Amino acid sequence: MKFEEINLSGFGKYPKARCRVTRPPGIFEINEILKTDSVLARGLGRSYGDSSLNDKGVVAESILMNRFIAFDEETGILRCEAGVTYKDILDTFVLRGWFPAVTPGTKYVTMGGAIASDVHGKNHHNVGSFSSFLLSFKILLASGEIMECSRTQNSDLFWATVGGMGLTGFILEAEIQLKKISSPYLTNRSLKLKNMDELFDKLEEFDADYHYSVAWMDIVASGKSYGRNVLLLGNHAGSDELTNKLKAISSKKYIEKKISVPFEVPFATLNKVSITLFNSAFYMAAKNKIEFVHYDKYFYPLDFILNWNHIYSKSGLIQYQLNVPEDKGKEAIDKVLKKVVAFGGGSFLAVLKKMGAQDGILSFPFKGYTLSMDFPVKKGVVEMCKVLDEIVVDYGGRNYLTKDSILDEKTFKQMYNGLWEKWMKIKMKYDPENKFTSNQARRLGLCPS
Ligand SMILES: Cc1cc2nc3c(=O)[nH]c(=O)nc-3n(C[C@H](O)[C@H](O)[C@H](O)COP(=O)(O)OP(=O)(O)OC[C@H]3O[C@@H](n4cnc5c(N)ncnc54)[C@H](O)[C@@H]3O)c2cc1C
Repeated sequence: MKFEEINLSGFGKYPKARCRVTRPPGIFEINEILKTDSVLARGLGRSYGDSSLNDKGVVAESILMNRFIAFDEETGILRCEAGVTYKDILDTFVLRGWFPAVTPGTKYVTMGGAIASDVHGKNHHNVGSFSSFLLSFKILLASGEIMECSRTQNSDLFWATVGGMGLTGFILEAEIQLKKISSPYLTNRSLKLKNMDELFDKLEEFDADYHYSVAWMDIVASGKSYGRNVLLLGNHAGSDELTNKLKAISSKKYIEKKISVPFEVPFATLNKVSITLFNSAFYMAAKNKIEFVHYDKYFYPLDFILNWNHIYSKSGLIQYQLNVPEDKGKEAIDKVLKKVVAFGGGSFLAVLKKMGAQDGILSFPFKGYTLSMDFPVKKGVVEMCKVLDEIVVDYGGRNYLTKDSILDEKTFKQMYNGLWEKWMKIKMKYDPENKFTSNQARRLGLCPS
């Protein structure tokens, strides 16, 4: 098999590690690697930190294992290989009236990656995460055995693999429930809000009326503008609600137009002034309005800018995503934001979402509020994140492993207290020799270094 030795990173381009990478076309090849090396499956590398890196073995990309296997037009149940992406599903099934029931903010994510991170979307507070619509999957274990897992079959492995960051085995196939839609558009309501109090009130007020909700916060603004944000609320639009023009467009294949960040932006251009200007411009341009928005713009605005992570220069970025319990969520987020504003290392717009209850072991979501922020990697940023970690732990919260690049073992184990131990027992049952490992797993003490 062909291996390539390259400096690999996740989407944040931080950290980088020298990895041996290959693209196995099937099970036979993965088993061959397992005879001599540790393995980590990788999808499209849209996780931000080092969860898709393995510099002590092989990184096996699932990109060639990307076939649809079966689809039931009546029920919307799709079976496919783990390398199939959201883009593949959207391109094939939207025109047939089916949509992923849970989608992250980029469509360049494989089904294997979606399971391993148990991804969530703007509707988590209503329907839960990806695993809520995952009926079963097939996984290749370290022993070479192939297992089918669901809530009723090998259920311990099912729950350890969902959110298990690729550490239980190589996911080969997934069976998922798609959602029926009657148009590719959403009805979006934008609310321009002055502060966090308004935001938390509106999130409560509109909870039942909108399937999707997300707020973009300006977290550079201080003084009177502190906490200003734009709340976006959405529902799938019925075909009968659309204008004739949109109805006509809806029946055709959608062509995306993209712009690109052609090179890594020098660090000097990305400073407090430029970020402040960008965030202010976004807030100023926002209007209270209701409009129809195509799903591509609604769910995947960042996909329109190819290589947008280049904007963070060669040093890359840390995406910090926390989730804190509902009862003191506002207080915790306020404390975090004040630290970030004081640090002045600000992020482009931060994203705040309400989260619902969630089954799972290492799955990130639970009932509360999640905030994600991008920080360009520069002096003092890691130290600032460590201060944020303390707040998150104090409030009984946790960070999202698929975004993480810096948590230490002790803090991780505090955040996932009682869960990581449960997970570890299942890992030892199915992979006692730690054949599936990653740089992140070794950093967090989920695998030996
Ligand atoms: C712009 C952007 C927006 C995003 N928005 C969201 C969001 O709204 N919600 C959200 O939850 N996430 C979001 N993410 C994160 C992203 O959804 C997850 O990181 C996802 O896991 C990436 O999938 P991938 O296929 O690229 O996997 P990779 O990044 O390559 O891998 C991620 C993990 O999955 C494991 N894995 C991948 N394939 C397999 C397999 N076949 N078998 C076993 N393990 C496997 C890897 O080992 C690794 O641990 C976003 C990312 C970006 C870049």
